[in-house]
Amino acid sequence: MFSKKMKKKIQKKINRSQIIVSNDTDLQFSDTPTENLIVCNAGLATGLHQEVLVEEVLRHVASSSLANINFPSGKSYCFLRFDSPETAQKAYEAMNGVAPLGQDGCVLLMAYSCSELPSKDSDPWRNDHLPPGLILIPDFVDERLESELLHIVKCTDDVEVGGSLKNRRVQHFGYEFLYGRNNVDRRKPLAQNIPAICDQLWEKLRLDRPTFGGFIPNQLTVNSYEPGQGIPPHVDTHSAFEDPIVSLSLGSDISMEFRDVEGNHVNVDLPRRSLLIMSGESRYGWAHGITPRKMDTIRLNNSLTVRNRGFRVSYTFRKLQDLPCHCKFPALCDTFKEESELRKHHLQENAAQLEQENVHKVYNEIAKHFSETRHTPWPQVAAFLNSLAAGSIVLDVGCGNGKYLDQNSHLSCLGCDRSDELLKVCASRGLNVLQCDCLALPFRASSVDACISIAVIHHLATAERRLRAVKEMARVLRPGGRALIYVWAKNQEANAKKSSYLRQNKHGNAIAAKRESNFGTEDTILPVHTNRTQFQYQDLLVPWKLRDVERQEHTTKATFLRYYHVFEERELEDLCGTVPDIIVEESYYDQGNWCVVFRKQC
Ligand code: MN
Ligand code: ZN
Repeated sequence: MFSKKMKKKIQKKINRSQIIVSNDTDLQFSDTPTENLIVCNAGLATGLHQEVLVEEVLRHVASSSLANINFPSGKSYCFLRFDSPETAQKAYEAMNGVAPLGQDGCVLLMAYSCSELPSKDSDPWRNDHLPPGLILIPDFVDERLESELLHIVKCTDDVEVGGSLKNRRVQHFGYEFLYGRNNVDRRKPLAQNIPAICDQLWEKLRLDRPTFGGFIPNQLTVNSYEPGQGIPPHVDTHSAFEDPIVSLSLGSDISMEFRDVEGNHVNVDLPRRSLLIMSGESRYGWAHGITPRKMDTIRLNNSLTVRNRGFRVSYTFRKLQDLPCHCKFPALCDTFKEESELRKHHLQENAAQLEQENVHKVYNEIAKHFSETRHTPWPQVAAFLNSLAAGSIVLDVGCGNGKYLDQNSHLSCLGCDRSDELLKVCASRGLNVLQCDCLALPFRASSVDACISIAVIHHLATAERRLRAVKEMARVLRPGGRALIYVWAKNQEANAKKSSYLRQNKHGNAIAAKRESNFGTEDTILPVHTNRTQFQYQDLLVPWKLRDVERQEHTTKATFLRYYHVFEERELEDLCGTVPDIIVEESYYDQGNWCVVFRKQC
């Protein structure tokens, strides 16, 4: 049907778009038909909708022959898998260079692939694993009850509370759901209660799923969706409602999308008259939403097809609560966000005082014990010192017990620290030390050849103070001089090799699944870390347990809480990057620490 010239032109375009795909994936193209087709010039990034593509495909091949489709997020290509090379060829011949589904109505450019398409692991229509805690009960209400519930929606048209949102119409019972705050005002119950006809649902639920026998909701939101309408992805506010959230689908089937923070994606088909229970992880750790469109792609038996949407009503039942949430899913947790803001504010206001109490005072108390546990130099720090020219003047900012000051006889090392007790340890070993604050080093500019600061600036409580410490090191460094900084990493397993910090965990709980709940009570709102577990927070208090060695008992004599700001990946690099006149030369991870080597420009 194409002229030779036309065919050549299309093939040229296909070749060009294939380059984009092959740069991005390791897929092999095939000149002869295979069951795998790549649409090289259209995907999510060009605004192509999966259901539109599926509908087009099904105009040319039998509906049982489309095995899978895959729309990689943010890409301008997508994949189709058929049950045989023959059906793939049928679709190819009908659509390639013809179907105007590309950007701005461009025709689709397609190619066969002889590699397995990337679809198996990321098939959102797999219904063999729903988000954990998600329960779907089909045929939960019969048609009679369905039509009665639909009738209520129509009758309350004039007295509706909620009104029309951009995407759909809503009505509230019991309490109004306030969309601005994603919460309810529990002081203002509505005159309109949950319709009594709903009472039988809870009786039935108790018989069907005894675990949810206690669920009696006091808030109901009724959403009415015309075909083409949807609801943006969201999580029902953790602190506002109990677990579970329960939703009844009426009038028409619809596909609801669930996504977690790790990028997992599941399309859950909600048949009309089914009850959806979002509990546990599916309620707290997954966002759910309905994409506004007129049809859904669904999996029927083993192939994909499209289904038109009809007018759908959902009854979403919730039970109010007014408690901070302690779930394991901080990314979607309103309580966690609120507490983080409070902590951030607290740190800004009380930085110096916090460092005084939870750094300086603590180091003075634990100096002796601390010093006994810190004698082996870190190999990479030693290597940095070894790399310096003979006769270099080296300043160790926050030298602690001075373990790096007497390693190298070819260097002239000077240490400084805030802690009198640690300085006493240094002095007793005849080391060259003085007391000062790393935010105001008592040295002239450009006066030292090198600086090291090992596990120090993570004790400073704000980004401004950490920056000031780096700037001070840059200031005292001579042009061309180098500095090495070590800070604790939040991710203690950033390398495949576990850090010694986690390895020492005798209980084997390297990753604390549970969120910390033992917040400091009296004078701080910072979380207290559980030693030898993965860090859950960036700003926290880390216990130092002082054993009662004199009495030869393994009991803890006292616990001291040291303040830490543990660094995210690249955070230290970025911090140093904002300091004028220095260049970050190296950035690496070393046994639970983020490390940077920078040079002062000449
Ligand atoms: Mn919801
Ligand atoms: Zn939560």
